[in-house]
This record gives sequence, C-alpha cells and structure tokens, in this order.
Amino acid sequence: MAKVFVEALVLGAINWGEADKMVTLLTREQGKCKAAAFGARRPKSPLAASLQLFSYVEVELTEGARISTIRQCTIKEHFRRLSEDLETIAYGSFVAELATELSPEGEPQPEVFERLLLIFRAFEVRQPRITALAAACQLLELAGLGLRYEQCVHCGAPVNGDVFIEIEEGGLLCPSCRTEASMPFSSAARELLSDMLRLSWKRDASLQVKKDALLQAEEIVLLYLKSLFGRLLRSIEFIQQLV
Ligand SMILES: [Zn+2]
Repeated sequence: MAKVFVEALVLGAINWGEADKMVTLLTREQGKCKAAAFGARRPKSPLAASLQLFSYVEVELTEGARISTIRQCTIKEHFRRLSEDLETIAYGSFVAELATELSPEGEPQPEVFERLLLIFRAFEVRQPRITALAAACQLLELAGLGLRYEQCVHCGAPVNGDVFIEIEEGGLLCPSCRTEASMPFSSAARELLSDMLRLSWKRDASLQVKKDALLQAEEIVLLYLKSLFGRLLRSIEFIQQLV
C-alpha cells in the first residue's frame, strides 16, 4: 500500500465506528479526499489533538482500495479563533462546507487550497460574517460559478445603478423588466460583492462595508447558493441559531 505525506486543511470530521473519525481533507497535492482516522477519538491517540477541524496539517496517508487511512498527523498551523470563538466557528463551518461542496474529489486544486489558507488566517483577525461572505464570493468564482451581473437577463440592457435580481431567472433584471418576484439589488450591494471578490486578504487590505449593502448582498448570495445546491447548507442553520 502506498504511503504519502500531504499538506491539508481539515474541512470536516464525523464520528465513525467506536472511536474513529472520518475526515474530509483538502490537500495541497491531491485535492479533496476523505480519509479514516482510526482511534482518533481516544483521548490518548496522537491524532485526537492534531486532527482538529480547520487545522492546517501534514498527514501521512496510506492509500487503500476503498479509502485512505491517516497514520500520522502534524499540525503546521492552528487557528485559535476558529477553535474557540463560537461565531467564528459557525462562519468558518460555512466556508468549509462550501469549499467541500465545490471541490471535486481527487482533483488537485492548488489555487483553492492557497486561497482557503488565506481565508482561515483572515478569520483570526477579521469580522467573521464579512470574512465568510467574501470567502463565498471568491470560492464560487474559483469554481467558475461566480454571480454575473453585467446586463439584464431579459432585454440585455447594461446594468447601472439600483436594479433587481431574480435568482430563478438566472440574474439581474433592469427596472423595466422586473417582476413581482424580483428582489432589489442596489449598486452599493453590487459594489460590495465586487470589492469582496477582489479582496487580497492582506492584513491591511480594508473593506468598506455598509450594513444595508451587507444584508442585501448576503441575502442574494445565500439564495444563489440555495438554488445552486437545491438546499440550504447545513452550516447556515447553525449560523441562524446564533443570531
Ligand atoms: Zn431589462
């Protein structure tokens, strides 16, 4: 059986068997993979301390016919707020769940890995709610699924100023084409989403956020995700319980 060392971000973990865990990893080298961590829930297991959700780790994987097994795990970077602060954990779970949904299994995605690492680091210093929304915009864009809003989907008119959006119709509607089901989409919310898309995640990169624009942008992205996956992401229910 082949043994490999890979760098990975821990995106998910579920309890399994008597004392085992099944973890979802986004590896730098091999993309997303699931791996079994036998005994990881025993307090004395060296995996118990190192294999934590959101951690940046190096793992030794033994590739099996059906599933890989984690033999050893070393922490390269631990994110304190993502393990201690409930609000940060909730928004971090949303980002991890979205990255899991968007990543195909076994396909290397070095750009997504690097971006996610920057996002997890940003959770240590930035406001979690804003970080999560900016992360969602960037992960969707990297997956080729970013929201597009250059023109009205009905008449093709270029989009300027305050317009409307109808997710079911697949995009923006100008004021003349709006229907009763259209939601307002202000130019402020649109600017915020494009600023978020360009955010470099450097420590001094600031983002101007007005509350109304944030609420509208967030509502639109969540509706878009719901139509994309055909359901609400589980982590969103967790967030809604906190607010
Ligand atoms: Zn139109």
